[in-house]
Amino acid sequence: MLTDSPPRKKNLAGFQESDGSRRLDLPKDGYLVAAAKSIEVAMNENASPSVRRACAEFLAIASGFYEVPACGIRVLAARPLRVRENWTSELFGDYDPNTKQIRVWMRTAVRKDITSFGTFLSTLCHEFCHHLDFQRFRFADSWHTRGFYERAGALYHNARGTPPKKLFWVQVPGGRWRIDWQRTNQGGQAFQSEIQFSAHK
Ligand SMILES: [Zn+2]
Repeated sequence: MLTDSPPRKKNLAGFQESDGSRRLDLPKDGYLVAAAKSIEVAMNENASPSVRRACAEFLAIASGFYEVPACGIRVLAARPLRVRENWTSELFGDYDPNTKQIRVWMRTAVRKDITSFGTFLSTLCHEFCHHLDFQRFRFADSWHTRGFYERAGALYHNARGTPPKKLFWVQVPGGRWRIDWQRTNQGGQAFQSEIQFSAHK
């Protein structure tokens, strides 16, 4: 995962606000976990209409929680040849702010492998966070900042019922940042054993 380059002066304040917003209020009632489970069940049955319904339910709950207008959802069998965004981390979905439409696809274009549930849900959360950027935070654009990735990650772990992961970043040229996966994964383990440790006390 790589952040976008900071924009020119006009939108720089919004970009910095997005970058600094590392936290996201999260539902505590477990509704998203149940909705995410339904997506997993539908994917295991390989039933596209059920996957779409389960995604729509998931997004309706999330939109209700964040008090934003509903967003549309299309679940496509395969990745379209042309996508709005060409980020390598977004091989599996996109979001159109004009139509408030999320598209996710269940198969990659090159190899016809089915997308794993984890990747699929992570993509859905990522695209929903673009929706939040426009509809809740009212940013002029939805940049891939460190804050954006952290908010999307927090939503994903909440929906999966897994412990949140602290992300570690390394600066790369052009004012951009990439995730240091080695430290992030080590940190994640340390964080988990910390939880286990305190649970055993
Ligand atoms: Zn994105």
